[in-house]
Parts: sequence; structure tokens; C-alpha cells
Amino acid sequence: MESEAELELRQMIFDRLARRVEEKGALTREELTEFEVGAETYRLIDRNKGIWNPAQLAATLSILSKPDSPYEDAEFSDSLYAYAYREGSVQGDNTKLRRAYELNMPIILLRWIKIGTAIRYVPVFPVYVIADDTKRQRFILALDETFRDIPDVLNLKPIERKYAQRLTTQRLHQPEFRGRVLLAYDHRCAICDVGHTQLLDAAHIVADSKENGTADVSNGLSLCKIHHAAYDANLIGISPEYTILVGAKLMHDRREGSMLRHGLQEINGQHLTLPQRRKDWPATERLEERFAEFETAS
Ligand SMILES: [Zn+2]
Repeated sequence: MESEAELELRQMIFDRLARRVEEKGALTREELTEFEVGAETYRLIDRNKGIWNPAQLAATLSILSKPDSPYEDAEFSDSLYAYAYREGSVQGDNTKLRRAYELNMPIILLRWIKIGTAIRYVPVFPVYVIADDTKRQRFILALDETFRDIPDVLNLKPIERKYAQRLTTQRLHQPEFRGRVLLAYDHRCAICDVGHTQLLDAAHIVADSKENGTADVSNGLSLCKIHHAAYDANLIGISPEYTILVGAKLMHDRREGSMLRHGLQEINGQHLTLPQRRKDWPATERLEERFAEFETAS
């Protein structure tokens, strides 16, 4: 396949994949095995290896990052992403990943997530191979094409490092957090039970701008867009006993409106719908910390 046609095909896959992630949060292996784009079906994950090199493509299409992998795939100094050579060899499966580097072909990084027995994959794309670190037998990946122009990716300047860190949070940690939280809550709003994934967010209990505002499921809540915004604005609060409390501002609003009445005022005093597994429940100390903010605000 010509490079241009291959690039076009990748773009078509990415467009479709972006919509599926919106609709689902994370995908199953089956969905990635038979991924429909228009009238065609494409495989986006290898049968058993962590790297997928389709025969008809010049370069790797996807790589898988799994926590128990024997390879040292890691976020590289918390900024760029390092992907170890497969089998520790320069050749073999690595050849096509090197081609992705040479041809500037965007690839998909599949992040493996697990909640209970459910395994899902969060696709992060487009990802670029921006360096072939032969000395340490690894490729350096960037989650944004702007890094292609940085002359020395193995020695980032402080400002570049800061940008890379922000990018890692946005492109890697946030979608993973959303995938895990939505899965834990069975793709429903913990307040109103809305089950339409496109309307759901993973809300942080303690804000991610704070040091303990980590992207763990126990610091997350699956909330619909309106309840997420209301929670973020401290218009509603959730007590450490999982009770939903509606602040005075909303409670005393006498204007008409079914969303205001049913969607907001009537949830006052209701109990949060919690994940099936106890370990995925919101952590009490996080709820306490956040609830104090709500009480101050109202
Ligand atoms: Zn809701």
C-alpha cells in the first residue's frame, strides 16, 4: 500500500475509533478484532502479541501496554512514553515500528484496563514514534505530533518536559480514568442512573489539580454531564456516607423547569448508586475532603 493511502486508511480508522470511544469509554478485544469502518472490517489488535503489524501495511498499526507485560513499557520520566523493543531484538516485530518512525506513520497505543473480571482497552491515538533509542533498546513515543520537531527528545528542556507531562495527563491518564470509572459504575450516572455513555464523564472527587487528586477509581465518580458540572461547582455535594445533598442555591431556586425540579432538587437526600465491587467505591477520606468544600461553598 502506498504511504499516502496507508495514512488515509489510518485516519479513517482513527475517526471511527474516536466515535467508538465516545460511545463506549473503552473497547473489548472482540470489538478491536473486528472493527468496522464503513463496509470494511479491520483488526486493530494482534491475536496474542503486544504489537500488531498487519501484512498489508508498511508500519505497525497498534501496540499494547499491559501492566504485567515482561517488557518495561513505561511513561518516560512522566512525560513521553518509552516502548521496549520486542524480544530485545533490533529486528523482528520491531522492524515495522521502526518503519512507523521513518515514515512518520501515526499508530494506536492500546492501554489495558481491568475492573473485576472485565478487561477493556483504551485506545490512545494518534501516537508517533519520535525516536529509536538503539542504545537502550526502546522506542520513544509522543502523544502529540508537536514532539516530532523537538531536536533532542532524549534530553528534554524543562519547558518541553512540562508540556509533555500535561499532554500525558490529557491524552493518557484522562481517557484511562474515564474508561475505568465508567466500567466500575457499569456505565451509569451514580446520581440519576442515566446510562448513555456519551453523556457520562468520570468526575474527580478531589480535583486533579491537587496532589491527592489522583486518577484512581476510588477518587472517581461516574456522573452525567449535568451532575458532573453541578458537583464540580459545589452546587451539589456527596457526603462521606454517600448521601447526595443539594445546596441552597439550587434548592431555593423557584423558577420552573423539569430538570431543575426532578434532575436536581428531588435528588436531595438520595443515596449514591455505588459500584458492584467494594474496592471501587469512593474513598471515605476523599469524600470527606471534598464534602468540606461543598459545605463551605453553600
Ligand atoms: Zn446524572
